[in-house]
Amino acid sequence: MTFKSLGLSEALLRAIDKKGYTEPSPIQEKAIPIILERRDVLGAAQTGTGKTAGFTLPLLQILNKGQRLRKRPVRALILTPTRELAAQVHANVKEYGEFVDLRATVIFGGVNAKPQISALRNGIDILVATPGRLLDLHNQRVFSLASVEILVLDEADRMLDMGFARDLKKILSLMPARRQNLLFSATFSKEIKKLANAFLRHPELVEATPENSTAEKVNQKVYLIDKARKTEFLIKLINEGDWKQVLIFTRTKHGANRLAEKLNKKAITAAAIHGNKSQGARTKALGGFKKGEVRVLVATDIAARGLDIPLLPHVINFELPNVPEDYVHRIGRTGRAGASGEALSLVSGEEKEYIRGIEKLLAEKLPREIVAGFEPGPVSQQTERAVQKGNFRKHKPKNKYRGNRRNKRR
Ligand code: AMP
Repeated sequence: MTFKSLGLSEALLRAIDKKGYTEPSPIQEKAIPIILERRDVLGAAQTGTGKTAGFTLPLLQILNKGQRLRKRPVRALILTPTRELAAQVHANVKEYGEFVDLRATVIFGGVNAKPQISALRNGIDILVATPGRLLDLHNQRVFSLASVEILVLDEADRMLDMGFARDLKKILSLMPARRQNLLFSATFSKEIKKLANAFLRHPELVEATPENSTAEKVNQKVYLIDKARKTEFLIKLINEGDWKQVLIFTRTKHGANRLAEKLNKKAITAAAIHGNKSQGARTKALGGFKKGEVRVLVATDIAARGLDIPLLPHVINFELPNVPEDYVHRIGRTGRAGASGEALSLVSGEEKEYIRGIEKLLAEKLPREIVAGFEPGPVSQQTERAVQKGNFRKHKPKNKYRGNRRNKRR
């Protein structure tokens, strides 16, 4: 299969060639022709499958063929849950659209709005945005969504997890009812299905991997380990394996900071990336990691969403997430683009409960290992009681960010 046979124009084929892609990925092969037919799409795909090009390429082709409007009102809106993902999608739109005459810009919170406002006032064909800043600037009447022809919701599951449901509803009401809708999500909960039913019109289902499953090439393993000795064990793994690029997940922002500090003290260059870091600090950390100047990136779940880091060999769950779907997202960072990867989880006695939820979602049992000298210690009676009562699972992801969303971002 070639990109040409999918019906893409010369200008787009040129950009694809420049990127060095020789053939479309499975999701691109399936999604591109359907989108070009102007059908709605429900895409089951996580980052790393090539889904961004899968929706961006046909979107550019449609807008480029369509009628040009003099003032360049927004004709395509791409919504993403996080700033990082918005920036990455925008960068991709610019690359794939290099040889067509369409303007794109990106808006997200946490940075000065002025340059975003002036870009929008100049007229823009494609807008990539996070929901909060989009509504802020729309309320200020900086732009209109009345001419939107194509709407893309990227990582829709994460958008709902972050409490954007109400913002989404509002945004949908600002656009014309007659438009093409593309919804991409890595997992399909009841809420996502409800959202999809609410606004997609006879969508075509496009899948990159089987529902809620992890990529086949990821070798997964659970180390049952003493909670107090996790850092020591991690350092041993990194040093003995001579790992050059490791992504580590912690549950909290403070945990991410603390771990990065400890690693740096042991001469393993590390940077933390989470919602309390400024946009500049996050971009710098990610840049250093990609260039190989920083060996370890310690991230919280939300901060890591959509990060474009190809071919990541090692992903470590320093702590397991209490939301099983987050595990799928985390390990989706490895084993990408045909390369195999390793996803290791360091699990203390208190966290054992979480493994069951994850295994249920994956419908498979994860291999466990106990390393001599790092055996898990006894779980305190208090913790045991909390686990038995189910108190360990009382955090409901859907409500977690509601209300004070900006401050609570992980
Ligand atoms: P995405 O899933 O959109 O985040 O893309 C993951 C990575 O795959 C990005 O680094 C893309 O540049 C790359 N990519 C997308 N499409 C292709 C393709 N057809 N061939 C090779 N790499 C690709």
